[in-house]
Amino acid sequence: MPTRPFIPPRDFRAVLRRVVSLTPSTKHFEWEAIEGGAFEFYAGQFVSLEVPRNGEPEARPYSIASAPRGDSRFDLCLNRVEGGYVSNYLCDLEANAIVNMKGPHGSFVVSQPVEQNLVFIATGTGIAPIRGMLAEILASGKPLSRDVWLLFGVRHPETILYREEFEAWAAAHQRFYFVPTLSRPPADWRGETGYVQEHLRKLFAGRSDFRAYICGLKAMVDEVRFILKEEFGLDRKQIRFEKYD
Ligand SMILES: Cc1cc2nc3c(=O)[nH]c(=O)nc-3n(C[C@H](O)[C@H](O)[C@H](O)COP(=O)(O)OP(=O)(O)OC[C@H]3O[C@@H](n4cnc5c(N)ncnc54)[C@H](O)[C@@H]3O)c2cc1C
Repeated sequence: MPTRPFIPPRDFRAVLRRVVSLTPSTKHFEWEAIEGGAFEFYAGQFVSLEVPRNGEPEARPYSIASAPRGDSRFDLCLNRVEGGYVSNYLCDLEANAIVNMKGPHGSFVVSQPVEQNLVFIATGTGIAPIRGMLAEILASGKPLSRDVWLLFGVRHPETILYREEFEAWAAAHQRFYFVPTLSRPPADWRGETGYVQEHLRKLFAGRSDFRAYICGLKAMVDEVRFILKEEFGLDRKQIRFEKYD
């Protein structure tokens, strides 16, 4: 990002301090880099984790799901992909496990200072980097000077990852709007239903006074980018994204 100095990626070893199941297939991990010096990153960047496979290292990228806390700790949020090697290896780890990693990587970070309204759009574990970005923006405790929206699409209510945290932030910040939307809602769901794309159109059609940050699988990211550029007229520079596949 031009607005922030580049942090060169380096090699680290990281220890798993704590792991929490968020849903039957998704886990929240709290890591600490223990070798390689202080681990610095910007909210929204990712690390490359390495696990052994037939005696060789196998690496995959994972978004950091927390904001920097002034030490070498960071969170990840991982989905157990059916038939996937690294995600299953990591989701089977217990506290005190150690992995090699490299990072930070990527330019999916919020431009500072925040001078425009922000719209975050995520599906599934695409919420990971956005949780970090929001923590960075909201945790200062100062009132927001711009509107900040989170459109978060998942299938079922119990898969709204970090729901309590986002609801607490929405209660504490007048200008933070949390819009979870379910593609397979139960009969008693009173919130939004359908896909994030529809809510984007409903809430922002005709507006271009915001920056958008999108994260999730390719199909959603590509469709949202198309809507923002072709339908709303946003400039490329107003749209940042990270694709998971
Ligand atoms: C920049 C970046 C950041 C990422 N951050 C995260 C993150 O924070 N949390 C997270 O859970 N994942 C994240 N991913 C995806 C992650 O890197 C792996 O692709 C994923 O964990 C699958 O790896 P695997 O070794 O288990 O599967 P593989 O053994 O590589 O693949 C097995 C099969 O699963 C399919 N597959 C691969 N990835 C996915 C997926 N995400 N969803 C559904 N099917 C898939 C493959 O096409 C293949 O058919 C990120 C990817 C990128 C590029």
